[in-house]
Amino acid sequence: MAIFSISRIGAFRDCPRQYKFAYIERPEVEFQDTVEAFLGSRVHKALEKLYRDKMHEKALSLPRLLEDFNKSWSEKWSQKVLLVRKDYTADNYRRMGERFLGEYYRRYAPFEQGKVVGLETQETVALDEGGVYRLHVRIDRLVDTGDGLYEVHDYKTSSGLPAQEELDRDIQLAAYSLWVRRRFKDFKRVRLVWHFLAFDKEMDSWRTDEDLEKVRQKLLDDIRTIEAAEDFPPRVSRLCGWCLYRPLCPMFRHEARTAGLPENEYLNESGVRLVDEYARVKAEVDSRLREAQEKMEKLEQALVAFCRADLDKEKVAVVTGSENSVTIRRVEQVKWPARNSDIRARLNAALKDFALWDRVTDLDPHCLNRILKEEKALSETDRAVLESFKEVKTTHRLTVSRKKCQGA
Ligand code: SF4
Repeated sequence: MAIFSISRIGAFRDCPRQYKFAYIERPEVEFQDTVEAFLGSRVHKALEKLYRDKMHEKALSLPRLLEDFNKSWSEKWSQKVLLVRKDYTADNYRRMGERFLGEYYRRYAPFEQGKVVGLETQETVALDEGGVYRLHVRIDRLVDTGDGLYEVHDYKTSSGLPAQEELDRDIQLAAYSLWVRRRFKDFKRVRLVWHFLAFDKEMDSWRTDEDLEKVRQKLLDDIRTIEAAEDFPPRVSRLCGWCLYRPLCPMFRHEARTAGLPENEYLNESGVRLVDEYARVKAEVDSRLREAQEKMEKLEQALVAFCRADLDKEKVAVVTGSENSVTIRRVEQVKWPARNSDIRARLNAALKDFALWDRVTDLDPHCLNRILKEEKALSETDRAVLESFKEVKTTHRLTVSRKKCQGA
């Protein structure tokens, strides 16, 4: 039996290499948590206590809630918490937590919105018939509002507010609802509720039975993809800044190893020197290539101008140098409207009108040229309509060859 969590599945989707570090290799790392995750877990703990006390008929005052939060912050804080944004201190984050809790408290006190039937659940739900794959279900707060309607509440301490469409596509709370549906016999509907604490904002989304089935299937597919994975490539994104495995990741390992070196040692480090030299030579090569390209284009234009009279008459000319000859051919290229353009849509319609649509595979230009040339059933008027879509471009092709010896 394999138990997967939403964060485990998400880790593979965000970066397979990070997944391998976190769930397969599990190496020792310098930091255990980011400050954002630390803040999230302290706030979750405080709200769990608030509702647990309420369930035990004990009302927790706001000052007491904040006191508990600050106490647990100091007790749990350690040098192993990573502060990514250097402009902010740990205390800035602690005070953010105080604000989140204060605003939440004032908005929802005395906390009587429905009957709480689960807090920080630690359940699992089978995703397949045989129960081989199970999902870990961690609901922040589950509320029974009566009449078969359940609410899955989730606290978010992130500093981004998602669009409603993102929440309507969200998988995490919908996945947890699979367990709610199985656990409660009177289950009829589920409302997913997010509390974006940084914005003092509640947002929600609804799921039908059909939606939940799709989520179950998607999770199974994701898990099977993970199980079948043989490669775990790093996927660089803005999340790398918060990745605890960054110093071990192949994409940042060298940077991490050299970051603390004094400047003179840093500039003499073998890798740094190789990269600096490589970048310098590459820039030089690119610049010379560009210059040579520009020079060649000018020479091509000059050669075409030199034998324009022959080209107008014969469409081909050869100019001979001391050791080489250049053959210049005038070529007419037929261009048809680009894919997804409005004019292409009109061409498609014309082909359908002339009953030629089935004969043109994906508007292959060669196919169109052949039809224009060979299709006998095409009337002159229809042919003229098709002709009007094509554009003929004249170009010149130049080839260099060794000059042939006389008599050879
Ligand atoms: S640093 Fe970025 S690329 Fe490397 S493992 Fe972490 S998330 Fe993946």
